[in-house]
Amino acid sequence: MNPVLDKLLEMTHYLGDPGKDYAMLGEGNTSARVDDDSFYVKASGHTMAGIGMEGFVQVSTPRIMELLEDPNAGDGDVSRVYQEAVIGDSNGPRPSVEALLHAILLQIPEFSFVGHTHPVHTNAILCSVNAKEAFTRRIFPDQIVSMKHRSVFVPYVDPGLVLAREVKARLEQFIEEEGVLPSAILMQNHGLITMGDSPKAVTSCTDMTEKSARILVGAYAAGGPRFLEDHHVDRIFTRPDEHYRLRSIAGRDS
Ligand SMILES: [Zn+2]
Repeated sequence: MNPVLDKLLEMTHYLGDPGKDYAMLGEGNTSARVDDDSFYVKASGHTMAGIGMEGFVQVSTPRIMELLEDPNAGDGDVSRVYQEAVIGDSNGPRPSVEALLHAILLQIPEFSFVGHTHPVHTNAILCSVNAKEAFTRRIFPDQIVSMKHRSVFVPYVDPGLVLAREVKARLEQFIEEEGVLPSAILMQNHGLITMGDSPKAVTSCTDMTEKSARILVGAYAAGGPRFLEDHHVDRIFTRPDEHYRLRSIAGRDS
């Protein structure tokens, strides 16, 4: 019995369901926090639909985060550190190439589960000239309930270490400007990351992002979306009383 792994496996199968078109072949990856020092992440070479428990590896969060401290770290360092960060059999499966992205997000106490996918309609928008406008604004009320009032938008950069650094910077900027945590990160020409305190939070936000994208595709085809005015968005989005601080993302206690 491993409740965290059970939940992670169920969430991964949901997101990998071929009927949903969120991920195919080896696309996408998922993770779940075990404790302050470690998390489970999908290993390379598994499909989200067909993965079993053996397809996840437990890795040390602080060990992986060390990559961010070395400005000269390259691809060779990433493979070495990923291998060294594995808890248990270091000759077993290798963590997903996006493990650093997952570590950055799981450092935030409110995020216990993370799902990264390449949904077809979401990527149709993300690969278009309207990507940023489409996902930073809102088009209907239920979208705000699931996806909050804004999402983090990340312009295209090289995958791997460069992308992880860019996501971290954009996430910190979002939290500083908005005072709340986002629930979705949209990466231009790449895909979606959703985060939350439960598998349901991750899957609901992924479902709603993809539904929004399908509506956006139709709206752009019908002459262009009519985005909600800011005051309409603000009336639906209730901000938590306490504004979120950057403490946990930076991995510091100040
Ligand atoms: Zn991806």
